Formats: sequence, C-alpha cells, structure tokens
Amino acid sequence: KATKLGSHIRNEFPIFQNNKKIEDGQTKPFSYLDSAVSAQKHESVIKAMTHHLEYDYGSVHRGAYGVSIRSSQMYENTRIKVANFIGKSVKPEQIVYTRGATESLNILASGIGEEFLNENSRIVIPAAEHHANLIPWQQVALRKNCELAYISFEGKSGDKLKLNLSEAKKLITKNTKVVSLAHVGNVLGQINPIHEIIEIAKKVDALVILDCAQSMTCIDEDLFALGADAIAFSPHKIYGPSGIGVLAMSKELMERLPPFTFGGAMISDVTLEGSQWTSGPAKFEAGTPPITETVGLGAAIDWVAKVGKQNIHDHAAALASEFLNKIQEIQDIEVFSPSTGQETIISFRHKKIHAHDLATILDADNIAMRAGHHCAWPLIRFLGVDALVRCSFAAYSDKDDIEIALAAIKKASNIT
Ligand code: PMP
Repeated sequence: KATKLGSHIRNEFPIFQNNKKIEDGQTKPFSYLDSAVSAQKHESVIKAMTHHLEYDYGSVHRGAYGVSIRSSQMYENTRIKVANFIGKSVKPEQIVYTRGATESLNILASGIGEEFLNENSRIVIPAAEHHANLIPWQQVALRKNCELAYISFEGKSGDKLKLNLSEAKKLITKNTKVVSLAHVGNVLGQINPIHEIIEIAKKVDALVILDCAQSMTCIDEDLFALGADAIAFSPHKIYGPSGIGVLAMSKELMERLPPFTFGGAMISDVTLEGSQWTSGPAKFEAGTPPITETVGLGAAIDWVAKVGKQNIHDHAAALASEFLNKIQEIQDIEVFSPSTGQETIISFRHKKIHAHDLATILDADNIAMRAGHHCAWPLIRFLGVDALVRCSFAAYSDKDDIEIALAAIKKASNIT
C-alpha cells in the first residue's frame, strides 16, 4: 500500500515546524511551494549527515585510518544506491559525483566538444532549456565553431505548448552529434517527448543527454535502457543536500570524455613532463569531493525509494492539477503550464500584479513561490512575458497549501 504523503509526512521535515509564522495570535503554516528550485530535507537526511559529521567524517580514498575508511565506504556505497536509483541498466562505475546538475552538464558539453565536435557538427537543444543546459552548449559551439540549433515550442500556453517534434526531425540530421534536453521543463513542468527524441537522435547516431534535474523523483524510467548516453541531476531537488551533483554516463562516453577539472585523485601517474588520467568516475572527481553530501544523498535515495517515485509523482501531480483548475478561475490569472494532469509545476502570471510583487505578497502569508525568469530567458521571452510565478509541488505538499495560496492570490487580486 502506498505511503500517505502530504500532511501525513510533514512532521518528518523539520523545516515546517521551524517556520510557522505567528501573527496577531494566528499561526500561519509554512507553505513551501518552490520545491522545483530545491526540495526540503527529510529528517533521515539531516540525521545521516549530522551522524556522519559527528562520528565518521574523514577524507575519502586518502587515509589508512578508521574515519577515512568509513567515509570512503559510505561514499562508494552511495554510488551503488545512485546507480540503482537511476535504473537497472546502470552500474556504479558509471556514476560521477559533481557539484550539481550545472557542473554535470558543463562536464558533458565541454568534453563532448573536445572529443566529438568539429566545425561541421551540429548540436541540437530545445530553445526552452534551463540556462544550465543552454549556455554550456553555446560556449562549446563558439569554441568549436560549430552549429547550435534550437528546437522551438509550438503554441503559446496550455496544452498546445509543446516541443515541436516535426522541427526536431528536420534539425536532427547526420551531422548532429549531440542532442541535449530536459526530461521535465523547470518553468512549465511539461514532460518532454524524450522517447521520440531519443528515437530520432539514435537514427543518426547522435549522443543523447538528458537533464533530469526536475524529473528524478517523479518519473521512474530506465533512461539508459531507453537510449540515453548521459543524464544529470541535482540531489538537492530530491530531498538531499546541495553542493553535490550526479552525472551518469555510458561506459563508452566515460572512457572517451577528457577530464574537466585537474588535480588530486584523478591521475594514474604524474611527472614533471606530463600526467595520465585514471579511468572510471575518479577521472572526473578531482580534488576533495563532497563527502557528507554523499551520505545525505544516500539517505535521500533510501527515503524516496521507500516512498516510491511513482507515489511522489502521483501525489504532486494531483495537487498541481487541482491548483491549476482552481487558479484559472481567478480573474486576471493566466496559466502557462500544460494541463495533462502529469505536471508537478504550474507557472502563471497575474495580469495586473507583477510576478515579483505577487511573490512578495505571498511571502507575507508565509507562502514560498518563485517569481522571475527561472533561468530560462529565451523561453520567457518566447512566452511574451518578463516574469512568471511558479508553484511547484512535492511529497510534503498538501491541499491546505493550495487553499492558503489561492486565498492569498485572491486577496491580492482584490486589492488591485
Ligand atoms: N536543469 C534544470 C531543468 C533545472 O531545473 C536546474 C535547477 N534549477 C538545473 C538544470 C541546474 O541545477 P543546479 O542549479 O542544481 O546545478
């Protein structure tokens, strides 16, 4: 039987206890509706990290003594958990720890540029990508003097808004060496048609990179079995700590890509004349890595796996759907996200209140929602707005959050 989420598990997330606001004798609960930017931490994550720091902390793969050995074991143990979490076809040797999804994507873009691209090559990405999956490719295209082509969006809002697949087919041709796209969009929450894109890309032998920053807790699919060559995500969005990222790659890609950062722990030999790199994940893990963060990530994965990705997704998507249906009834609200019932992120604007003002008004009622360009300027411009308010749902979100948020938005509407 599925674990009950929402209010049933909220007391397992200390942040909610610690951020109630008391005003005029009234308690305002903390409505955290910005999990797409970063999720709150489950108590098991906090405890595991605290315990590690208090009892087991040592640098990894560098010491012959107890704490270092224990930390190294935990570090590698989490690598196994991450591999299992991603899918059956992934092995721990394919998992690289980075500083975040952003760094993972930079490692990929830079290395693929060096190893696979020349001035006849084409890189294809959607125009709607997060800057983390856009700027690295722009930079590589500049360096390699090759083409960067963008797949546009059809439709301006709602269900009509989707990746233009017929354009993708035209763009992804023989000279396309890499296609990189988000599994789930961070602004609109749309689930991109990755099956179709992978199929198109594989016909021309292009590498496929999936930015899974927004999809790791909500879509349970073996992406490597589907044909992905690499995926990137950030543990802080799956209830784990910030400061650590994950990059999973096919073995072939891992062998071919050059290191991104140079220093200790990534070499097999160093002389004054030159150096050789070690193989496997260590090649990409120069320097002292995030250590306690891997312990936190392991705990986060255990928790998410126990609750179930599908269960979290169904819960968050049901709330998002309800929010979308209800907010559309408020005058002057324009919703941009599609409404297939599968989204967990809803972006909207109020025609008379600027997104930033609305977010500030909501904060007065202890509601956290993100307002702005959401690190996707080209998409925001395409939508013809300068900012959107984004409401995103997670395992601990509940119906009260929706009612509280809607009441606050209505109140703000009435003032204008
Ligand atoms: N891609 C997407 C789709 C994202 O939502 C984010 C985080 N906002 C990133 C990449 C970058 O993740 P991070 O900031 O954790 O490196």
